[in-house]
Amino acid sequence: MNKNDLSPETIKTRLHTKLIGSDILYYHSTPSTMDIAKKAASEDAAEGTVIIADHQTAGRGRLDREWLSSPGNSVLVSILLHPDEAALLRLTMIACLAVARSIKKATGLKTAIKWPNDVLIAGKKVSGILCESDVHGKRIEYAVVGIAINVNLDPATMPDISETATSLAKELGREVSRADVLAALLEEFEALYDSLRRGEPVHLEWRRRLETLGKNVTVRCSGQVHEGLAEAVDDEGNLLLREADGNLITITAGDVTLRG
Ligand code: ATP
Repeated sequence: MNKNDLSPETIKTRLHTKLIGSDILYYHSTPSTMDIAKKAASEDAAEGTVIIADHQTAGRGRLDREWLSSPGNSVLVSILLHPDEAALLRLTMIACLAVARSIKKATGLKTAIKWPNDVLIAGKKVSGILCESDVHGKRIEYAVVGIAINVNLDPATMPDISETATSLAKELGREVSRADVLAALLEEFEALYDSLRRGEPVHLEWRRRLETLGKNVTVRCSGQVHEGLAEAVDDEGNLLLREADGNLITITAGDVTLRG
């Protein structure tokens, strides 16, 4: 088997999931798997549909930031879901956990989570996570979880991220099977989504893996800047920041940029 092949046939033979990956759409190159997933949602695609791309030409992160990849080197995937409100609030959390667990399973590497949505190895970003949803009043039409993992990417070839990014291959000094990483990712995501829907406290493992707590941080959100000690997170994933005057404020993840 070609370890770099992420075609639906290859991935399906590796997966033991019931929901996640029940349908798989594969693109050799596409602007963004998020856009394909949203179109699939508008055409009533089933929950658990997974969109995989070998390469994205216009991958995006939060706040319209760019997500970079080079052909054949990343896991780039979007998952279509129909969560209830409680699950919707915690999708970023379980996506971070699925990335952390699958990297450990496929490579043995240890990761840490930077609040709210980055997975790091030795302080450098190895994965980006983006959750987008369509909500009308109380009605959640759908949510899409986008996950990107730098598998065999060489950050040195990308000046914009060469100082801040890493990849599994860079950390290990050898190529890593993208199929191993993707299959583990989808299996861990399903296990965590099941836990979430059963009402289990998924935030506890997420909190344990957060490297942000106990640090002094600067948080920018909606044009405001807050500085303080990242004291705790609540069970929805909001950050509790202790400011210099002793005030404890709650920061929701939405449009926040955090610097250590
Ligand atoms: P930050 O990483 O600054 O906290 P963020 O969490 O809001 O920002 P994301 O939406 O997760 O950002 O990702 C977009 C950012 O990630 C880009 O602005 C860029 O700095 C960085 N980035 C883009 N592509 C990659 C990549 N392949 N690997 C690591 N980092 C990347």
